[in-house]
Amino acid sequence: MALDKTIRFSRRGSRQDVRKEWAPKLLASFATTIYDRTVIRLFIAFVFVLTLNTTFAFAGFVTLGNGWGSKWGDPVHGTPSDTITWSFMSQGTTLAAGHPLLAGGATGSSNISSLESMFDANANSPGSFQQAVHNAFNTWSAASNGRVTFQEVSDNGAPSGGSNPNSYAVDIRIGAFHSMNASSFSFAGAVGYGPPGNDLNFPDALAGDIIFNLDSLFFVAPGIEGDPFPTGGPYKNDLEGLILHELGHAAIGLGHPTSGIGDVMYVGPNAATFINRHLSPDDILGLQSVYGVTAVPEPNALLLISIAMLSMVRLRRVTVHPIPNNDSRHL
Ligand SMILES: [Zn+2]
Repeated sequence: MALDKTIRFSRRGSRQDVRKEWAPKLLASFATTIYDRTVIRLFIAFVFVLTLNTTFAFAGFVTLGNGWGSKWGDPVHGTPSDTITWSFMSQGTTLAAGHPLLAGGATGSSNISSLESMFDANANSPGSFQQAVHNAFNTWSAASNGRVTFQEVSDNGAPSGGSNPNSYAVDIRIGAFHSMNASSFSFAGAVGYGPPGNDLNFPDALAGDIIFNLDSLFFVAPGIEGDPFPTGGPYKNDLEGLILHELGHAAIGLGHPTSGIGDVMYVGPNAATFINRHLSPDDILGLQSVYGVTAVPEPNALLLISIAMLSMVRLRRVTVHPIPNNDSRHL
């Protein structure tokens, strides 16, 4: 096993990235993000990446794969995804032996219903949890211009991260677990694992999973994009912004840019202190780097197509609606 570990701290000690390189039987590629909460709202981000290639762009988006891998579908970057399936882990889903979050302090079994009911109660609006999650999927999908597609499916309840193929029958599985006091997971809002190195040939169990910390706090921040979170209370995670970020790892295969407050994928001081549910231009460039861009016809071509279609409509009208030959005015 080759192990490379890089740890960086910002001036305020608010960031930690850990990169590991490992060549197991399966070319696994995982990214983990942990949101921290402190009284001054700094946060600590841990990134655990088991990947052969990681690219860091200058002051811009970061992809977990370097032109290849850590994406769904064809591993070659610039190609669209296959249909990315996702599910909420069945109630009682466990973490498989060896799951990294067990060492990180996650405990018990998945209880999405508890998270959902707590969130909906905080939001004082039934359906808010489902809405926030679906909004996040739709935001990435819409920005992809049809190149990233999602489909919600039933979960099979297989242990998360297990070696049984059922553990990775669904691409993105969303779970919620409690955390042990003072463990690394106790400081997390959620953890997201990146896509596999090669989805078509080397699926892996952890890839794409997103796991919430049931002991963290989640809410619907009032206001619009860019508005600061309310002050004075305990730190809370704006759920839609949080899962949008985790999907950036789990579905899109993006890492954290080194700067870029306002980028959904940015993690650092002063990030996550305001409503951030819209993708920035840099987030979208990252998405396009991994899944490509759908060509849009030039305006002149659109004009020609429009003229051609109008001609067809006129022709069709003549064909379908000939002048009635029993109209006395024409006799
Ligand atoms: Zn992250």
